[in-house]
Order: sequence, then structure tokens, then C-alpha cells
Amino acid sequence: MDTAEIRRRFVDHFERNGHQVVPSASLLLDDPTLLFVNAGMVPFKPYFLGQETAPYQRAVSVQKCVRTLDIEEVGKTTRHGTFFQMCGNFSFGDYFKPGAIEFAWTLITSSVADGGYGFDPEKIWVTVLHGDEETKRLWQEIAGLPLERIQERGKLDNYWNMGVPGPGGPCSEIYFDRGPEFGAEGGPEADEDRYLEIWNLVFMQESLATVRAKDDFDVEGPLPAKNIDTGMGLERVAFLLQGKNNMYEIDEMFPVIEKAAELTGRTYGADAADDVRFRVVADHVRSGLMLMGDGVTPGNDGRGYVLRRLLRRAIRSMRLLGYEGRALEQLLPVSLAKMELGYPDLRKDWQRISQVASAEETAFRKTLAAGTQLFDNAAEETKSSGATVLSGNQAFALHDTYGFPIDLTLEMASEAGLTVDEAGFRSLMAEQRQRAKADAKAKKGQHADTGVYREILDANGPTDWLAYETLETESR
Ligand code: ATP
Ligand code: MG
Ligand code: MG
Ligand code: MG
Repeated sequence: MDTAEIRRRFVDHFERNGHQVVPSASLLLDDPTLLFVNAGMVPFKPYFLGQETAPYQRAVSVQKCVRTLDIEEVGKTTRHGTFFQMCGNFSFGDYFKPGAIEFAWTLITSSVADGGYGFDPEKIWVTVLHGDEETKRLWQEIAGLPLERIQERGKLDNYWNMGVPGPGGPCSEIYFDRGPEFGAEGGPEADEDRYLEIWNLVFMQESLATVRAKDDFDVEGPLPAKNIDTGMGLERVAFLLQGKNNMYEIDEMFPVIEKAAELTGRTYGADAADDVRFRVVADHVRSGLMLMGDGVTPGNDGRGYVLRRLLRRAIRSMRLLGYEGRALEQLLPVSLAKMELGYPDLRKDWQRISQVASAEETAFRKTLAAGTQLFDNAAEETKSSGATVLSGNQAFALHDTYGFPIDLTLEMASEAGLTVDEAGFRSLMAEQRQRAKADAKAKKGQHADTGVYREILDANGPTDWLAYETLETESR
């Protein structure tokens, strides 16, 4: 079943059951707590909080999501994309636990001929929050699930919140057992690769005042109504139904891997390290396309930096696969051909998107051409002195002279079998900022106050990827 059909069946199922179909919001929805939309519920947040009255009681959507937190997982796990699509059904004070369980169970276990996904009910496991006896009982009654396939887990997995004050509630997750060849027995608690999480049902019922950590928060009180918020990973269901090993091999993503294999002359499936690179390329090219489609341009901070890092990582992965040519102009059109089916605006904006990508590739090629020699020398020097840590000075020089962001230095160092004295690098950066500040002060009143610009550049320039992650949360 292709991805488009899986998406269609999801929407149809819920539309038939009285849900208003709501189109995906932009990835850049205005929410001060988030860099990007990272879950289907984000556009509905005011309804859950009771700040606005929902114009409908039930809704269904397929929401574009970006989770930068998952970037390091891409290509290494089978199931994490930086961009993915979350299919969701929502109830605003209408149906609650029994309705949510019934709707989800019917869709996943109904036969393909009957409009469902046809999953074997014997291979489905679910989880509930520790002590949530009610939800356990409902799974037994409504789905006929035996107790052995209902696991209790802690708040870290089974209490959903946004990581910041806002709505939250216990959740119940649905997993598919891929079989003994994919890992140890024992349910999702034992192995999340064998038991693949496909759908999260959130019983959104509380308002959180303070959130110290994902599993450490204070409940302010009940929300004005009991709500349902669910999220089913479109790519995860697609990879299962298409009989693939991971989400990067589905119909919407695999053509990019094929194109990358053609360009590099390497074979996908022949070498584990290369395969991770192929999957990173497929993921990052698609995420880059979707971000540029929603109007992000590469830059040195915030959203622009995320995009820049994704595009540059895709280009570098192609280089590591042996392709030195201009990669994005070859790969983006392949991703476009797939993604425009669901997102026709991409075609309308294609000229703008391809120009943005092309300029970024040109700039990055210049940076690499200038800095790679210095990096290689530094790495060589470090190794020949018997050390394994690239000094803060060297990382600083790469940044200051050649505009190498620290992430790039970290990645290249790790490929060379080295680590980087990050603390040293950061203290040199801080010193430079101080100097710029003092300089700016001294020059106050003069007309060319470049120190200030330098300071802004330094503050926003080689940004710490992690600094942006704090804006974003997810359930695990
Ligand atoms: P995981 O534990 O696998 O990281 P999650 O618990 O973080 O997933 P949720 O926040 O519950 O995920 O999101 C709802 C659904 O969205 C998940 O059940 C999964 O199907 C899908 N999903 C979440 N993160 C990703 C991702 N990075 N790539 C693809 N699909 C995802
Ligand atoms: Mg989850
Ligand atoms: Mg996660
Ligand atoms: Mg999870």
C-alpha cells in the first residue's frame, strides 16, 4: 500500500466517523515555545487549553512535523526522520478513551478490502501508564487484547506533555511486533526496534504549570474538558505495510537513495556505514525540501540554522559516499517528484526553492574548499603528536578564519577518529565576544561601530545545535 493510500485511508476512516478534515498547518506555525511544529496537536493547542472554542468537536489531520531532536538517530534507527507526517484524530471534549481505542483498533486491524490496514491483531502490543487500570480494561474489552500484550510504563513514555507548561495527559501507545529476527522478546519495554511504535493515543486532560523534565512536572488542574489527541506515524505504517526494513525505504523516500547510489556509484545495502549515509541523504534532502517549501532560508540561527545544517549534512554525506559534484540540484527534484503529490505548492515554489538550495550549496563548497586543508593539517598534527583531541584553538581558528561551524568540526573530527576540546572552543568564543563588547564600548559615538555587528555575528553565528533543541520536546 503506497503512502498516499495509507494517508487517504486514515482521513476517510475518521471523516466517515464525523471528524472535520483539517489541512496540515505550516511547519512554521507561530508558537513561541516551538521552533517547528513537531506534533499533530500543535495547531489545536488553544482548543485543548480552552483559550478558544473549537469550531468542530472532532477533527482529523495529517500534519507535517520536524523534530530536530531526532537528527542523530536518522539512518541509525529504522524509525526516526527529521521530517515526518503525523496522522491524527482529535476530540475536543467529545469522545474519550473508549472512542479513541475503538477508532484506532478498527483502522489498523480491519482488512485491506474493508478499508483498513490489515495488521495481524496477534502482533499488536499496547502500553499504558503505570496504574492506569481503566485503560488496560478498555483494551481488553474493546480490542480483546490479552493482558500479556498490555505493558505498563512510566511517565517518560506514557505521560505526554509538551515539555513546557501546557496541556498534558496519560497516553497509550500501539506497537507492532516485527518478529524475532528483529530483536529480543518481551514487548516494547524490552526492545523498541523489534516492537515498533506506530500510534500514540493521548488522553489530554490536565494542565501543567511547571515542567522540569519530561517526567517531572506539576499538574495545575484539570483542563476544561477531556480531550483526545492521537498521532500515528505515516512513514512507520508505510514501512511495515510495504514490507521494508525502515522508513527511508518507503515509496516517498527511496527514489532519493536510488539517485544517490547512481551518482556515487556505490550500492545501497552493501556496507553498513554507507547505508547510514544514504539514509541521511534521503532524510535530510526531504526535510530540506519541506522546510524551504514553508519559507525557511538557510541562516546562522534558529530555523535557518537547522535548514543549513540539514542541507550541509546531506552534501557532506554525498561526499563521504564519493560524490564531489553538486548534489542538491540532482537530489531535490527526485524528492520533489514524490512530495508534490501530497503538497502541490512545492511545485509552484520550485524555482524559489531550487535557487535557495543552489546558493547554499555554492556557499558551502567555498567553505569546504577553504577550510578542509586546515582541518586536515590540524587533524594530522594532533594524531602525530599522539593526541586524540583537537584543541580548542584549532577549532576556533577553523571557525574564525573559515566559518566552520562547530558542528562541522565535530563531525569531521569524529570521522577522523578524534574528539574536540569543545569547552576550550567555547571559552575562546566567549573571550572574543568580550573583546568585541569592550571594543564596541570604546568606539561608542564613532560612526563605524563594527564591534556590535561582530558581536551579533558571534552570538548568532556558529550556533550550538543543542541550544535550539531546548525549544522542542516530544514524548520520548
Ligand atoms: P519514539 O519513541 O519512537 O521516538 P515518540 O514516542 O517520540 O516515538 P510520539 O511523540 O508519541 O513519538 O509521536 C507520535 C507518533 O509519531 C509515534 O508513535 C510515531 O509513529 C511517529 N513519530 C514520532 N517521531 C517520529 C520520527 N522522528 N520520525 C517518524 N515518525 C515519528
Ligand atoms: Mg510515543
Ligand atoms: Mg521520540
Ligand atoms: Mg515513544
